[in-house]
Amino acid sequence: MSSTEIDLHQQLKKYFGFSQFKGLQEQVIKSIVNKHNTFVIMPTGGGKSLCYQLPALIEEGTAIVVSPLIALMKNQVDAIRGISSEYGIAHVLNSSLNKSEIKQVKEDITNGVTKLLYVAPESLTKEENVEFLRGVKISFMAVDEAHCISEWGHDFRPEYRNLRHIIKRIGDNIPIIGLTATATPKVQEDILKNLGITDAKTFKASFNRPNLYYEIRPKTKNVDADIIRFVKQNDGKSGIIYCLSRKRVEELAQALQVNGIKAVPYHAGLDAKTRIKHQDMFIMEDIDVVVATIAFGMGIDKPDVRFVIHHDIPKSLESYYQETGRAGRDGGEGHCLAYYAYKDIEKLEKFMSGKPVAEQEIGHALLQEVVGYAETSMSRRKFLLHYFGEHFDEKTGEGASMDDNVQNPKKKHEAKDEVVLLLKTVKETKQ
Ligand code: ADP
Ligand code: MG
Repeated sequence: MSSTEIDLHQQLKKYFGFSQFKGLQEQVIKSIVNKHNTFVIMPTGGGKSLCYQLPALIEEGTAIVVSPLIALMKNQVDAIRGISSEYGIAHVLNSSLNKSEIKQVKEDITNGVTKLLYVAPESLTKEENVEFLRGVKISFMAVDEAHCISEWGHDFRPEYRNLRHIIKRIGDNIPIIGLTATATPKVQEDILKNLGITDAKTFKASFNRPNLYYEIRPKTKNVDADIIRFVKQNDGKSGIIYCLSRKRVEELAQALQVNGIKAVPYHAGLDAKTRIKHQDMFIMEDIDVVVATIAFGMGIDKPDVRFVIHHDIPKSLESYYQETGRAGRDGGEGHCLAYYAYKDIEKLEKFMSGKPVAEQEIGHALLQEVVGYAETSMSRRKFLLHYFGEHFDEKTGEGASMDDNVQNPKKKHEAKDEVVLLLKTVKETKQ
């Protein structure tokens, strides 16, 4: 073991109390400490924050962390203060601060007290902030949730597009670290290009979740009854059921309740108090099932969710991966069941029809991948991982047997029908 390795382990223990690095963390940190531009792709929960927090705490100067959400920043800053307030401070610079708070933050940066400065992209664009940051020592710049830079990502934010330009103005030789949980090659390419770091050392963790079982069922009129049956067969287990519309969420939650299942609805149309109550009931296991729109799930870390059901197919495979990924966080069983009808794809296409053409084209391409996944007769895990640019060996790969297509291979003639169907749908949507 080299001296730097021993050193990093000590630092990890000292600042965070962990005795082991998770996955690729150590290699990433070495790359950052060695001043390389660095690109980190790890699934949610992979431990991306520590990749920049630890080097920020050891290095001279202040690390700037760009993050899209004020709530996320607050969480991280509180967490960092909780573990290592005696060593250095994390600060936020965004629109939630008043004038005197901003002054205090700037003083702490100038005095070298602030090791981590979290900024929203719109704050970073402000001329007075750029001017200020030009004059202080910056260790590196981390761009968290870097997929926000890409129109192909699930959360495009135009402000992210200016980052490269602003970083250059703050300092020419500042190493840039991009981090994301979105693994599609297109988004990755966009990130590297837009951040101007095509030379970055790239670290990509596997996106395979071997304990998740993937299943697609045709969506018929009996979908509600089918879901109720499934939930009853999984009595007492925690699960999430995603629906596209609020109305559907309410209806299905009621249908479950009527059938003696402990379920609550969750969507953005409910008031904040009810939403928090329902979320807590789920975490505390007063109820078993949350029927929800995609408003539910961000930041919810319930390790023993045993099933995720999609009543409606999601609009991209990224969304599908994120949402199904909430099952089996503890490594235990996680059944991911989605109901699919081509009609639902058409519905999603229709939703987009008011949007700008470029957006529609992207949305359409993403939907076609969903169609491919839902209609395929090959290993779903292989399809999904291929979409994320990852090779998966369907014979020997971890979790290879964990999907409906592998468990019940379709007969040849059925598979042929499917090809015809696929061609037909592609033709139809091209019109
Ligand atoms: P991501 O941003 O990749 O979704 P986070 O940075 O939020 O993931 O980390 C997920 C969880 O993993 C956090 O609870 C964090 O404390 C934990 N974690 C990170 N690194 C380690 C480690 N080396 N050992 C143990 N737990 C870790
Ligand atoms: Mg993160």
